[in-house]
Amino acid sequence: MTETFDLYIGGTYVSSDAQERFDSINPYTGTAWASIPQASDAQVANAVAAARTAFPAWSRSTGKTRATLLNRLADLLEAEADRFGLMESTDNGKVIRETRAQMGFSARQYRFFAGYADKLWGQTIPLDDPDVFDFTTRVPVGVVVLVTAWNSPMALLSNKLAPALAAGNTVVIKPSEHASATTLAFAELIERAGFPPGVVNIVTGDARTGQALLTSGRIDHMSFTGSPEVGRKIAAAAGAALVAVTLELGGKSPNIIFADADLDKAVVGALAGIFGATGQTCIAGSRLLVQRPVYDEVVSRLAARAAAIRLGDPTDPETEMGTTANRPQYDRILDAIAAAQDEGAQLAAGGRPANGENLGNGLFIEPTIFRDVHNDMRLAQDEIFGPVLAVLPFDTEEEALAIANGTRYGLASGVWTQDISRAFRMTRALEAGVVWVNTYRASAVQAPFGGVKESGFGRERGEVALQEFTAIRNVMINFSDEERDPFSVRG
Ligand code: NAD
Repeated sequence: MTETFDLYIGGTYVSSDAQERFDSINPYTGTAWASIPQASDAQVANAVAAARTAFPAWSRSTGKTRATLLNRLADLLEAEADRFGLMESTDNGKVIRETRAQMGFSARQYRFFAGYADKLWGQTIPLDDPDVFDFTTRVPVGVVVLVTAWNSPMALLSNKLAPALAAGNTVVIKPSEHASATTLAFAELIERAGFPPGVVNIVTGDARTGQALLTSGRIDHMSFTGSPEVGRKIAAAAGAALVAVTLELGGKSPNIIFADADLDKAVVGALAGIFGATGQTCIAGSRLLVQRPVYDEVVSRLAARAAAIRLGDPTDPETEMGTTANRPQYDRILDAIAAAQDEGAQLAAGGRPANGENLGNGLFIEPTIFRDVHNDMRLAQDEIFGPVLAVLPFDTEEEALAIANGTRYGLASGVWTQDISRAFRMTRALEAGVVWVNTYRASAVQAPFGGVKESGFGRERGEVALQEFTAIRNVMINFSDEERDPFSVRG
């Protein structure tokens, strides 16, 4: 029995008018569990038009009104966190302990940005001309499109939707075709919270839908989370249409353990970095750099714990690592493991599909560790987005930095050391949008998040996220009685 979901356009639930639907497959059971509509181009255009129609009234609503609705949305999501957590684990195989917590995190984001909705004030600016009064206001940019990846649909959405709505924009959302269910179900909470029709629209479908969103009528901003390959296409299309974009892309993040680190904590951080969320996270610490005096010890402790990771039903709270999220991703990860062996990487743990009594038809892959990896191997350079760790030895701090920065990505990084001077030096020299010291994979609604280099541009979370969704308007009011010469300008 599959659950049927519909598009949400202009406050109305609609099926695909092309009669085209696709199944969402539960990656643990291998069975179809949800039927998702493929939006037609006309429906994408309708969604953009509905957002455009809703924009004038919504953009003029008071901050107090927007804050009230966002807080209500947070209350509803918190109350429904179990249901949404279960639905997301069913859809993408991520363990319930994480999806449930991500619903709480998402609710926190709606609350956090509700707090800004009535505080988006500008500045008064004294000018050289005493008869001109100058001030700025912060205005919403207009209709914004939010495109997300399959690994954490609701959390990724909250990074974008909370500041976008707080600032008075109207939105069209497109989740990944591999995990659309929670985003479509979220329409119910949007409606119950009382958002006016057209303020939030949700369309689903594959790449065609994403493309159509850039060409079906004027949009004012696109905020995208996904792969660098697709990010590049979006940036090119957005360039042609002169639409601003925020790009949150992939990573090959270095997690660096110095010999003076608290090794118990560092090993936990390394495990969290690569096997948390089955490694299907943009901030995965997929390159572990370990200083030589502790190299063998760290590798053997990691390998022992990796072999003991409890795989199983993602909806079971006891499970530590769930499935990979979908068949194409499962195949990609296994191909990357095979390619790593072909280029001479040495396996220290895992390396195969995982089968077992409680693993059913699930798309499981063993927690995998390669040791003695060189930074020029593909294994060390390409994002795998799965539970595959490359461990690289180093001798000096300079060498660690050269390896860490020797990547086209720049999303996250981790440093494990007890030496505070070294920690500061590393935070200054690492080329990454996020640097963790003696922790890894930590996030907070207040803390800005985003990448440099091919990991993208723009920032989410924290106050700075509002910059992506507001424009500064400068206003000059001349109150002098003097008639001015039309052919000269004043300095
Ligand atoms: P993806 O790029 O394949 O898809 C992302 C979204 O783009 C989906 O909704 C997809 O339907 C849509 N899309 C695909 N082709 C499109 C096109 N031509 N035009 C417009 N839209 C298109 O990524 P994915 O496989 O869903 O997610 C994995 C990637 O996302 C990894 O690279 C991962 O690192 C990255 N990611 C980044 C962050 C971050 O915050 N930096 C967070 C999560 C995931």
